[in-house]
Amino acid sequence: MSVRICVPRETAAGESRVALTPDGAKRLLSDDVSIAIEAGAGRAAGFPDAAYEEVGVEVIPDAGRLLGEADVVFKVAPPSEAEAGGLREGTVLACLLRPHENAALIERLAAGGVTALALELVPRITRAQSMDALSSQSNLAGYKAVLLGANSLGRIFPLLMTAAGTLSPARVLVLGAGVAGLQAIATARRLGADTWGYDIRAAVREEVESLGAKFVDLDEGAVEGAAEDAETEGGYAKELEEAEQARQRELLAQHVARADVVITTALVPGRRAPVLITDDVVDRMKEGSVIVDLAGEAGGNCSLSAPGETVVERGVTIHAPLNVPGSLPYHASQLLGRNLSALVKPMFGEDGVAVDLDDDVIGPCCVTHAGEVRFGA
Ligand code: NAD
Repeated sequence: MSVRICVPRETAAGESRVALTPDGAKRLLSDDVSIAIEAGAGRAAGFPDAAYEEVGVEVIPDAGRLLGEADVVFKVAPPSEAEAGGLREGTVLACLLRPHENAALIERLAAGGVTALALELVPRITRAQSMDALSSQSNLAGYKAVLLGANSLGRIFPLLMTAAGTLSPARVLVLGAGVAGLQAIATARRLGADTWGYDIRAAVREEVESLGAKFVDLDEGAVEGAAEDAETEGGYAKELEEAEQARQRELLAQHVARADVVITTALVPGRRAPVLITDDVVDRMKEGSVIVDLAGEAGGNCSLSAPGETVVERGVTIHAPLNVPGSLPYHASQLLGRNLSALVKPMFGEDGVAVDLDDDVIGPCCVTHAGEVRFGA
């Protein structure tokens, strides 16, 4: 068999990641596997063409030719119309496809006979942990959010005792303690902040506390659904009813008002992000405090967030950055490339790339195959 993996340069605005690094390519290359990248594909992430060539990757300047030769395409963002149109029938495409938002693209990929694998739909089972790109990227976003918050705050994070007096530590509150939230908590703790965490899934209390942070207890049971039934079988949060959300916001408000930095990471897969901080809660915050809303891509956890922008409202700086992992492209690409390799490598067999829809990872994340749309079917 022989399999050709191709990695185009990302064309989406502001996307600086690349879907495979030279080190990742080295691990995949073999007598049966060849790899080509589009010229300049890794440059913005800190990986020049020469670094790929050194490990045996072919560098091709023409994106059209590159895609037309591929058995497998690794990408970060969903392909553009033109890119999707350039894929051969039977090509396996693996990327962060945003399947809930891209119905037309998915139709197009199916019509072209492409097998599309959406990294977002990789199930959260033990075997698939190395393929879990949502986790690898969220982890980095959680870290960066704390740095953004610290950078905008007019105070330092740690307690500092000096000859000129003692400075009290900053109070950091992290709402949503999934992968990004837990990394934000760990990072804020490392910087010495008085750190608090909250999540609708009561099960995470222990994880928050094991990082040395305090868990915000909204008077247990007061928020209906805030107990065990707030979690789906896949480990994700369920969406709260509007009345429950309102009650949650009210109870959280006093904690938000006391914080210097609030980092919000609350998401419900496939839905708009829950609004945890409304205008009136921002009103109650201290001047000079900072919100970093990591849920901007899903509409935001703060009602005043402007996705992709930083606004200052009533003296509170509100960041709602988009594609935060893209601001750490070197490491984000390294992890994403490993996720993609771990997902696709087991598909290589004697006859090339085999798509086993009964496989408990490939089945759930395969959104198009053999001319059919499988997502939502
Ligand atoms: P996510 O990005 O979907 O959501 C982030 C967090 O927001 C979650 O913890 C969620 O409970 C929380 N949230 C949602 N609505 C909320 C609300 N109204 N108020 C407060 N918090 C709210 O989640 P994630 O980071 O992808 O992780 C979800 C879970 O899956 C975590 O427990 C994580 O550890 C687990 N996980 C398991 C595996 C695995 O077993 N392979 C891999 C990755 C993550």
